[in-house]
Amino acid sequence: MLSNAVPAPIEPYPLLASLNPGQQAAVVRTEGAVLVLAGAGTGKTRVLTTRLAYLIATGRTGPFSLLAVTFTNKAAREMAERVAQLLGRPTEGLWIGTFHAIAARILRRHAELVGLKSTFTILDTDDQLRLVKQVLEAANVDDKRWPARGVLGLIERWKDRGLTPDKVPGDDDQAVGPSRAIAIYRAYQQRLIELNAADFGDLLLHGLTLFTGHPDVLAQYQDRFRYILVDEYQDTNVAQYLWLRLLAQSHGNLCCVGDDDQSIYGWRGAQVDNILRFERDFAGATVVRLERNYRSTGHILGAASALIAHNAGRLGKTLWTEAGDGEPVAVRGVWDDAEEARAIGEEIEAGQRAGLPLGAFAILVRAGFQTRAFEERLITLGVPYRVVGGLRFYERQEIRDALAYLRVIAQPDDDLAFERIYNQPKRGLGDTTLQLLHTVARARGCSLLAAAAFAVETDELPPQRRATLRRLIESFARWRQAAETMPAAEIAAVVLDESGYTAMWQQDKLVTAPGRLDNLQELVRAIAEFERLPAFLEHVSLVMDMATGDAQDMVSIMTLHSAKGLEFDTVFLPGWEEGVFPNQLAIDDKGIAGLEEERRLAHVGLTRARRRACVLYAGRRLVHGQWQANLPSRFLAELPAKHVIRQDALGQPLGHAATPGAGHVAESARPGYGLRPSNYHRVLDARAKPAVPLAKPVAQTPEGIAVGGRVFHQKFGYGRVRAVDGDKLDIAFDKAGDKKVMAGFVQKA
Ligand code: ATP
Ligand code: MG
Repeated sequence: MLSNAVPAPIEPYPLLASLNPGQQAAVVRTEGAVLVLAGAGTGKTRVLTTRLAYLIATGRTGPFSLLAVTFTNKAAREMAERVAQLLGRPTEGLWIGTFHAIAARILRRHAELVGLKSTFTILDTDDQLRLVKQVLEAANVDDKRWPARGVLGLIERWKDRGLTPDKVPGDDDQAVGPSRAIAIYRAYQQRLIELNAADFGDLLLHGLTLFTGHPDVLAQYQDRFRYILVDEYQDTNVAQYLWLRLLAQSHGNLCCVGDDDQSIYGWRGAQVDNILRFERDFAGATVVRLERNYRSTGHILGAASALIAHNAGRLGKTLWTEAGDGEPVAVRGVWDDAEEARAIGEEIEAGQRAGLPLGAFAILVRAGFQTRAFEERLITLGVPYRVVGGLRFYERQEIRDALAYLRVIAQPDDDLAFERIYNQPKRGLGDTTLQLLHTVARARGCSLLAAAAFAVETDELPPQRRATLRRLIESFARWRQAAETMPAAEIAAVVLDESGYTAMWQQDKLVTAPGRLDNLQELVRAIAEFERLPAFLEHVSLVMDMATGDAQDMVSIMTLHSAKGLEFDTVFLPGWEEGVFPNQLAIDDKGIAGLEEERRLAHVGLTRARRRACVLYAGRRLVHGQWQANLPSRFLAELPAKHVIRQDALGQPLGHAATPGAGHVAESARPGYGLRPSNYHRVLDARAKPAVPLAKPVAQTPEGIAVGGRVFHQKFGYGRVRAVDGDKLDIAFDKAGDKKVMAGFVQKA
């Protein structure tokens, strides 16, 4: 069980009673480096929590001298609670948090040493991008050929590796327009400092600079944190590793727990090699291997272990359980994705009827877009759910943007929607334009879109912005007309395409971009269930309304990445089809390494289950409006028959029932089909009216400005009114020449 013999605990301590000897060893070996390298569910996190409590309870140290690093803020909260519970008292002064949270906390105290002020801002991705764009512009880089997102991605990977601009190896450099990538990186860092801002990568990177450049500061933290503990160690990147090593090097009291078979963040720079480095850097480290799994029953563990055994690059381990065989892993073939959602919904309902708490169920998906079908199904069934580690489908940024376009089409008065997208993608219509539109809209008592239609007929806006705005207005008019006859999904696809919105994400080189494009496609798919746009939009608002309950007991829906470290009685694993899972992009980009990371994800998924795991695969899915037949995932073939029960769509063992899904497809639940027609027509009628109310021509404005009168305009100066058309004036300006302006913008001279 242990790689090097560790003496049994000398002091029988009640805290240790609930641990096995291997776990106890990892807890009581308080001095020196300890690496717990063990499989899923073997109690690694439990070891860490107990170790924290043990260090305090035995009087070795106070909470103040402990530093624990977890993977999410939620995990940090749970660990703090658990330690307090074990000790029977709160643990003030204990630092538990993510790498970023802790690094930020330290950096705030010494910000000036890296050129920042303690009040520095932590930038989000949007701000980062804006900044990179500015830097590229200043360097005369054509951002069509070298999009800011690509450059930012490059910079982030360097930061993951702990490389400041002067440390990036020359081989890594590349031309970016007339400039070089490293030079852009350097300029970007310079701008961040000028703005008193740091991005996420900087928190660690500045931390490294701080510790290496200021031994006194480092010594201060080395003295303070006598014991350092790290969970999910397999997913640390190089910068995080170096940061840890610096903090721990004086006393060497570093305890890391991890599982090489659960390393799933390679795409973000995580390096499993850090595990191997650990033994090299901390000579004499105690390596503890735990093999008893306390989480899952035998079949689940057997299936998961056999699956991961197909990976070549692994340290290898044998897990066992005393929990009995339990139920075999159910592998269920369904007809299509709609049936997949129904099947899971039915099982959860049945569980609910049998008195099981909803918190016992989790649906773990490979990619974010997959949550939509399950969310809608659970909403239809009235089953509360939460999306863990992410937003509900209809709350995601790209979905809200897309919906905003559709809302303006269906309802031209929807100013909130218009404001959201009038400059999304970027069209060069900034805040000044928006302010002008607001002024006009207020003055005329009309919508922003109507105000825009009015403003473009005047000279209030510079020609280029006027032309852009005019194109946008014309597009909306065209889309609105098309929406009268075209199926809703088609019009949505056209809008996303013609507005440049899809292209915006296609040009995006950040790791999150493909997920957003998938979400947009999923949106079009969702719309396809409705004939007309208004019916779909109504469905969305109803759905969102129902989803905002405050139930305590909820089903969890999340991506496999977010499920790390968690456990549930029943786990549903949908979408096990080639291309979906293993994900095609991961394989295309990284080949075998990509496939192995996918397999580790599958392994993480299966090992989340305590008693029941149900894997589903659909025979076909709607992709780009076309039915696409899918091959079952290769991972299914890697699950040994003895641990698996193959089922049809109804959950019957295969061979006992008809074709999967037969007779089931037609009763497809299409929420929204029951919408009252009256509603429909109201919206359609509203759309039939012209978007811009036609102003009656009058010879004089309410302010008394009439033809022939002298006026003054802020921008164009003095002039004489040539014609009055409602609140639009035609003026011959003394200097600026003939212009159309808005009455509200001139004063009688
Ligand atoms: P993962 O790799 O998924 O993060 P882990 O190794 O961190 O898993 P834990 O989450 O700590 O495993 O433990 C898995 C489950 O087993 C938990 O419910 C935990 O309470 C239980 N467990 C761990 N050790 C023991 C033990 N010695 N006796 C009883 N239950 C245990
Ligand atoms: Mg854990």
